[in-house]
Amino acid sequence: MKKEVVVLGGGFAGVEAAIKLRKKNYEVTLISDRDFLFIYPVSIWIPVGKRSYEDTQIKLSELAKIHKFNIIIDTITKLEVNNNKVIGLNSSYTYDYLFIALGMGKVKMEGMEYTHSICGKPEESLIIKDLLEKLREKGHGNINVGFGGNPKDITATAVRGGPAFEIMFNISVWLKENKIKQNFKLTFFAPMAEPGKRMGNRAFSKMDLFYKHYGVNTHFGKKIKRFTEDSIVFEDNTKLDSDLTLFISGGDGLSIIKESDLPQNEAGFVMINEMCRVEGFTNIYAIGDVAAIIDHPWAAKQGHVAEVMADVAVYNFHNVQIGKPKRMSYWERLHLVCVMDSGDGAAFTMRTSKKELLIPMPLVGHWLKQGWGWYYRNSKLGRFPRIPGM
Ligand SMILES: Cc1cc2nc3c(=O)[nH]c(=O)nc-3n(C[C@H](O)[C@H](O)[C@H](O)COP(=O)(O)OP(=O)(O)OC[C@H]3O[C@@H](n4cnc5c(N)ncnc54)[C@H](O)[C@@H]3O)c2cc1C
Repeated sequence: MKKEVVVLGGGFAGVEAAIKLRKKNYEVTLISDRDFLFIYPVSIWIPVGKRSYEDTQIKLSELAKIHKFNIIIDTITKLEVNNNKVIGLNSSYTYDYLFIALGMGKVKMEGMEYTHSICGKPEESLIIKDLLEKLREKGHGNINVGFGGNPKDITATAVRGGPAFEIMFNISVWLKENKIKQNFKLTFFAPMAEPGKRMGNRAFSKMDLFYKHYGVNTHFGKKIKRFTEDSIVFEDNTKLDSDLTLFISGGDGLSIIKESDLPQNEAGFVMINEMCRVEGFTNIYAIGDVAAIIDHPWAAKQGHVAEVMADVAVYNFHNVQIGKPKRMSYWERLHLVCVMDSGDGAAFTMRTSKKELLIPMPLVGHWLKQGWGWYYRNSKLGRFPRIPGM
């Protein structure tokens, strides 16, 4: 009898899992609440007009046609994991095997409605673009960009600082290109004393040079009390005036996970073993941002980690099916790698158990990341061969 394999989520992890499962000839149904995969790493250029919203998407229907998986657009509202069933707004779906790749939510804070995030819903990137355009017309103002953590996520693997740095430096370059940089005060803020430290000491020690080069003030080490329409208020009641606040809140488990019977850590991320199988379940895997990843200083929820986890989960799943004892561990393949774009260049940072690297890449780094966006789209659509490990 054919097994029903259902993948929840059409992002980095879900799509990679569906493609790899199809390569092993399983019948796969992918369910996603949006009909496209959003290539988040290159969405940082949408607000500054260097990339279109459409170019940052890959239609799931196109991927489904090429890789021959079934696609259903529906919002999943409940996971009935003890009944092998998930409930959606339009229908309910049964499965024999489930791959959960639903991504993560964000920590809610007072006054968040006055902030915007490049890591939120894809449409948010267009709202930020409009707000920047309004500020450009006004000709002056205070722009504050920052990120926070999740106190319940003790591993700090769900902190997403990279895109905050990227959007700040890109805005600086954009203002300069518009010849109005001198009329704007740019401030990078974060509650931690040393934001960016996860990239490693070497990379962190160079951040001051970046702030200086891009004319960015810093405001670190003070907890955020709330956001208002025109300010950020800190724990000691001091304020930063703000005409535009871009804030990436700490990652949090999705409510659908928190309300389920899945094992989860305090922050609501699904507990898995090193084979990416959910603890206590033999037929469920959790991959990508939704999963609680192991606590290593060089571990962070990232797109390439999501793909590694998809690869590992499918490999282990398949070997179970065919009765092969070999298993793969995602722990061994974890590393932190980031091309941090700054609008007119980039810095390549890498952190593994053995080494830490920061390589400044003026100009060429910017084009390298643009090239990666092209590669990602075209390799997923089968127009360009996959480079192993990328
Ligand atoms: C601005 C930005 C820049 C980044 N830059 C980098 C980078 O340079 N390098 C890097 O490695 N990583 C980067 N990342 C991180 C990377 O994008 C994420 O780690 C990756 O997207 C995680 O993949 P995922 O599949 O787990 O989750 P997602 O990509 O978030 O996908 C989740 C999927 O689940 C679907 N979904 C959610 N809820 C439901 C529901 N209830 N019902 C049905 N479907 C649902 C969503 O529509 C989506 O399709 C960046 C992230 C952002 C936001």
